[in-house]
Amino acid sequence: MLKEYGVTIKGKEYRAIRNGTAPAGLVSSASHPGEWHTVKSGACDCPGFSYRGKCSHLGALAATALVERWEAHKGEREALEREAEALAARLEAILGKLALAQEAEDGAWLQVQEMAQETEKPKGKKKAPPAVPLAGAAA
Ligand SMILES: [Zn+2]
Repeated sequence: MLKEYGVTIKGKEYRAIRNGTAPAGLVSSASHPGEWHTVKSGACDCPGFSYRGKCSHLGALAATALVERWEAHKGEREALEREAEALAARLEAILGKLALAQEAEDGAWLQVQEMAQETEKPKGKKKAPPAVPLAGAAA
């Protein structure tokens, strides 16, 4: 089954046609629209490949395998995205509860401090204990 892919390599868009999992296929020419290059056994029939031994068509065809894997895991990805969204919502709710709890704790702590200050005030001017006569002084 022939399948056509759209891939972008270094900003250039290619169409690539591949048959099943075969590492061979046709890749459109980025510089000459309408022209196609044949890629098979790690070689390409374009002038660039015969000159440099490498070309973007090889990369474009290899990229189709990644595109295929990306598409194959689409359902899994979407499920993970939904799970991540649900977790984010739960985290937000937990953080909201923590903020409320912290607020309540801060309020309680302020009350404790106020109570402490109120009970300290009268004790501040504590009377000295009555002098106890020294034994033998009255004798
Ligand atoms: Zn090529």
